[in-house]
Amino acid sequence: MGKAYKHLFFDLDHTLWDFDKNSELTLRQLYNEYKLWERGINDFDVFFKAYCIHNDKLWERFRNGYIKREELRWKRIWLTLIDFKIGDTALAHEMSTAYIEILPTQTLLTPHSKELLEHCKDRYVMHLITNGFETTQWLKMQYSGIASYFTEVITSEKSNCLKPKREIFDYALKATGAECDSSIMIGDALEIDVMGALNAGWDQVYYNPTKKAHDRKPTYEISCFSELMKVF
Ligand SMILES: [Mg+2]
Repeated sequence: MGKAYKHLFFDLDHTLWDFDKNSELTLRQLYNEYKLWERGINDFDVFFKAYCIHNDKLWERFRNGYIKREELRWKRIWLTLIDFKIGDTALAHEMSTAYIEILPTQTLLTPHSKELLEHCKDRYVMHLITNGFETTQWLKMQYSGIASYFTEVITSEKSNCLKPKREIFDYALKATGAECDSSIMIGDALEIDVMGALNAGWDQVYYNPTKKAHDRKPTYEISCFSELMKVF
């Protein structure tokens, strides 16, 4: 059994909040609303796959500071539409705005994450550290009914820094009055959440639901949050 943790720091997207399923639901809604099959996109699943590829690439560029968030938001749709020979900047902007509005109102959480929060709520002080945007992340927490579990929500906007940089973890300790010896980071992104926390001197839980192979050595690795009930 591990150390005596006092503060649990969770990542939000893909960790507690089922980003993939919520994003897919939102895009499916837009696909139907904008009748994209009439524009030659016959299969939603193919459209969704293309979107995911562009989104991942642009997020990488955003994390590295090459693009701003506004560019990230509309270009992922614009580039996806271009894959289907639709060069329509206005449509891309319109869909992008709608996506941003609808996405955070989706409510799907990852399996057993709510149970884990409930299990931990009287034993630990819980917080979030997220690279997402302030207003968006609050909406997600409120709609999915988990906002009340967290004492501090550290966003990249508030701390002016992105995971995996050490500064955001140091900022989190200061903001919460926690110490790194009694803190643990729980996240789905190995190089961002886990390695970031490791480099800041924290213990880490790698949430790896698809059991991706890797050669890092996180403090804990789980594929389902039900496993964490035994740790915390
Ligand atoms: Mg994540």
